[in-house]
Formats: sequence, structure tokens, C-alpha cells
Amino acid sequence: MQSRVRIESRFRKARSLLFIVWVVASALIVGLTVKLAADRAETAIRQEAGETLAVQRETLTGVLDKYRLMAPLLARQSSVASLFVLDAQDNPQELAARRMAHWLTGMSAALDVAFFFPDGRLLGHARSDFVAQRTGLSGLITEAAQGRLGRAMLWLDPQRRSYAFSSGVRRNNKLVGIVVVYVDFFRVETAWALSNKPIFVTDAQGTVVLANVDDWRLQQVDALRAGSGGYLRLNADRQRGDKIDLTRHLPVLGWQLHVLADPRPITVARVAFGAIATLACLLFGLVALILLRRGEDAMIRHRADRATALRLERKVRDRTRELSRSNTSLSHEVEVRRRAEERLRAAQSELVQSAKLAALGQMSAAISHEFNQPLAAIRSYSETGQRFLDLGKAGPARDNLGRINALVDRMAELSRTLLSFARKPGQTIGPVPLRPVIEEALLLARPRARAAGVDIFVDEKLTDLHVCGGRVRLGQVFVNLVNNAVDAMATREDGWVRISARRRDGRVEVTVSDNGPGIVSADLQRVFDPFYTTKGPGEGIGIGLSIVDNILRDFGGTITVHNRDEGGAIFTIDLIDAATGDGTGKDAGGDAEAREKVLV
Ligand code: ADP
Repeated sequence: MQSRVRIESRFRKARSLLFIVWVVASALIVGLTVKLAADRAETAIRQEAGETLAVQRETLTGVLDKYRLMAPLLARQSSVASLFVLDAQDNPQELAARRMAHWLTGMSAALDVAFFFPDGRLLGHARSDFVAQRTGLSGLITEAAQGRLGRAMLWLDPQRRSYAFSSGVRRNNKLVGIVVVYVDFFRVETAWALSNKPIFVTDAQGTVVLANVDDWRLQQVDALRAGSGGYLRLNADRQRGDKIDLTRHLPVLGWQLHVLADPRPITVARVAFGAIATLACLLFGLVALILLRRGEDAMIRHRADRATALRLERKVRDRTRELSRSNTSLSHEVEVRRRAEERLRAAQSELVQSAKLAALGQMSAAISHEFNQPLAAIRSYSETGQRFLDLGKAGPARDNLGRINALVDRMAELSRTLLSFARKPGQTIGPVPLRPVIEEALLLARPRARAAGVDIFVDEKLTDLHVCGGRVRLGQVFVNLVNNAVDAMATREDGWVRISARRRDGRVEVTVSDNGPGIVSADLQRVFDPFYTTKGPGEGIGIGLSIVDNILRDFGGTITVHNRDEGGAIFTIDLIDAATGDGTGKDAGGDAEAREKVLV
């Protein structure tokens, strides 16, 4: 969150800075564009006006040149000189002069051609008020009399203007007359009127002598410029704004030719290009703003992702540290537990051993009876055998010795089983043949059962069965179960215990049932609890079945108990069938306890 605020403030600053840069750059660009556009437009206007100026200058000088030459040429004509000679009646040739003037005017398209005597008297002319009113005539005559080309701009009013050229007519080197040619500007101004630009000519005094704008004629150019609205006030088309004034000097006449160009295209170009440049700058600014925003968003997102990743990494690191810590403490705990388990196992095995010895103690009276009985028989057989030998009856004596041998074998078998049973068992688990285990157990338990009048039956089907377990501990299971059954039937005459077995779903199920009183239903599950006993003090401490349960669990088996419908209890043992090949293998050497037994 903090980093987001930091990034936003950094981008805000960058935005402000960029905004200032953008404003300055935009102002420069717009200004430059406007100036360039205006310059270009002005150049174009000036170029066009310049062309107009050049053309009109040529037109004007062409016209004036024609008439400038016309006056001296006429003056040199003998026909013109002869006009100034008196006729036969000593009268001036006015009619001839008038005719000549008309003819010349018609031919040259001049405004007028006039013939004067050197003293200023008019001989004849074609038309024009200038002659009648003798406008500028004295100057023209004086200049011509001096042998120069006289010239003068003449006007009566804005509509009547002319330029006059004068030349002296000489006969025998004597001035006899003056020819004046009046130029008609009508055609020139008519040609200019076709142009959409104001075109005018000012003389040395700044008077507008020719113009294609009617109102401007004979005005002072300064007044035109300075008046309110400048050139425009008098402008026929009443356009607003200043005009561009392009001038060209006309050297012979000392005049200035003006062409006024409309500057509006400059304004239009200025506005149009200014608007385009402004729009482009705005667009650029908008795009830059969008890009900046996107960049800001992307950076904020990137930072957020990074922060999340870092947080996650830190979390993972912390969790890993925690895990490795708890792993260490777990392995320590496992070690502690392993040791405790080892101790428990040792204690259990001690308990198993104690319980076994207790069972042996229980059975000792019966077993000693089992030893005493053959011993007594051996004594009796040996005594009668001696007597048979004394009597020289070797045959019966040999029979007795054979019986003694058989009894000794039986006792040795019992003794070996006893020793094996009394030994501390190993912890190895492997395939164990069920029948021999049960027979060995019964070898120890049967004497007591017999003493109590209880019959023990063993199912023939046991023969082929092998289970996973330890031989001595499995034997202890059956000794316990049979002893308990015998205890339960202590008061019965016709008591029996039956051991049967069967294969079931890859397991071996062994049942030990009896026809005793059974177990109180409420206590059925408690019989496997340690120290549960119904026997009196000195008869039992209640750990037998608990040890049986533990032993069978070690073998991967279970034990359950029910009461038979006909009366009596039935214990069901479920063990792994070693023949199904579930990894234990029938002869895989798991019968280690058996091998221990052989060594005893
Ligand atoms: P203990 O034999 O020392 O009492 P056990 O754990 O071997 O300890 O037996 C617990 C109790 O289970 C016995 O006291 C007895 O009440 C009951 N019991 C065991 N087997 C039988 C049986 N076959 N018939 C009836 N009761 C039995």
C-alpha cells in the first residue's frame, strides 16, 4: 500500500513536470507552425502580387512609351510642320490641323492630339477638355520650346485625367509649333479593373493618379493609408483588415505602381495551421497521458505482484523454518517415542515372559504329575525287569526296557517343550506351521486339563495351515486360551475345549471354544483389558488375554470373543495366511523361534 502511494506521488510529480514540458513544447510548436504557415502564405501572396505588379507595370510603361515616342515623331513629320504655315489667304490651317488631330487620335487611340503655336495659341485638336481649359499647357509648351520632351500629368477631376507629352515642331531650325499628345488611361484602368487586387499609381507627391478603385483616384496615398480602416475605408469591396502594399518604381515617370494584396490567406493559414498544431499537440498530450497512466498502472501492478511474491516467499521461508524446527522436534520426539516404544516392548516382553512363567507355575503341579507318572511307571518297569532278569527271562525284561525307553522319550519331549516355552522368545515373525504349535501348547496345557477332567479336541484340518507369527509366542496364546477354558470349567465334569481352524479370504481363522459358563455379556469387550479378572486372589491377575491380544496384534492378527448359543465361550483368532504369498513366504526362514527351539 505504502509503495503504491509512493509510486503514485512519483508519477504525479513526473506528470506535472511532463505537463510543463508539454505546455512549453506545445506553445513552441504551435507558435513555430503558425509563423511558418503565415510566412509561407505571405510569400505566396507576395509572389502572386509581385507577378501582378510586373505585368501591370509592363502594361503601363508599354502604353506610356508608345505615346512618349509619338509626340517627337509627329513633330518631325513634314505634314505636321506644314500645318503651321499660313494658307493662301494668310489664315492658319485650323481645319487641316483639326482633321489631322482627329485622324491621329483615331489611329493611335490617344485621348487627344493638339497643335499649338509657340505662343500658346491653339491651332487645332480632336477632343478633350484639357485643351479647352489649357490644363498644364504652359509647362508643356515651355519644355517643348526648349527642345525637350514635355510631359505632365493632367487632371480636371477624378474621372478626367491624362498624361501629356509635348514636342516642338521646327522648320529650318525655327520653332513653329508644339504637338501635344494626351494619353488615355481608360484602357489601362479597365484592364486593371479585371484584377481582384487594388492596383494604383502614385506620383512623386503621393497623389493617386491611376487606380482600379474609383474612389481612390486623386486621393493622397497617405490619407488612404492613415484614414480609419486604412486602405479599407475606401475599399470598394469593404473587406476588413490591412492590405499588403507591394510597390514598384516607374523610373521614367518618377511614379510608384502599387498592388495591394489581401492578407486574409495569412490569417486563414495562421488559424488553420495553429488549430492543426494545437490539435496535434493535444492528441500527443492525450496519448502521452494515456501511456503514462498505463505505465503507472503497470508499475503499480508489477510492484504489487512483486510485493505479493516477496510476502509469499517470506511466508514460505518462515513456514519452512517453522517446519524444519518442528521437523527437528518431531524427529526428537520420534526418537524419544522410539526409545519409549523400545522400553515398552522390553517391558511387554518381560510381561509376556512373566505371564508365561505364571502360566507355567499354574501348570507346574499338573506337569510335575506328568513327570511323576512315567517316573513311577519307569520304577515299576525297572523293578519287574530286574526280577525277570533274575529269573532268567530276558524277553519280558527287554519289553520292560523298551517301555522305559518310550517313557523316557515322552518325558524328554515334555522337558524340551517346557524349556522351549520357558525361554524368552525372539521377535522374529515368519511362517509358522499351525498344528505343531498347537500340539506343543497342548503338551503343556493338557496335563492340567486332564487333571480337571476337561477333554481337548483338535480339528484335523489344522495340518496344512501355516500362519505368520512367532512359534513360541503363538504357543503361549494357545496355552493361555486353553488354561482359561479349563479354569472356567473347573467345576464341570464333562468339560471340553475344541480347537479348529479354516482358511478365509487369505486369512486363517482359528477358534478355541469351550462348553463352560461363557462370559457375562457386559464384560465381553473388557476381557482383553489388562487386569480384568473374575478369578480370586492368587488364581489370576487379569493380564493373560491382554498379552494374547498384544501378541496377535504383533503378528498382524486379531482376537475376538463371543458366547456360544449352546453355552460356553468361543475365541476367534484371525491371522495372516502364510501360504497366500503376501510377502512373508512359507519357508522364508521366519520360523526362527522354531530353530531356537531345536537348539535348546
Ligand atoms: P486371568 O486368567 O488371570 O483372570 P485373563 O486375562 O486370562 O486373566 O482372563 C480374564 C478373564 O476372562 C478371566 O478372569 C475370566 O473371567 C474370563 N475368561 C477368560 N477365558 C474364559 C473362558 N473360556 N470362559 C469364561 N471366562 C473366561
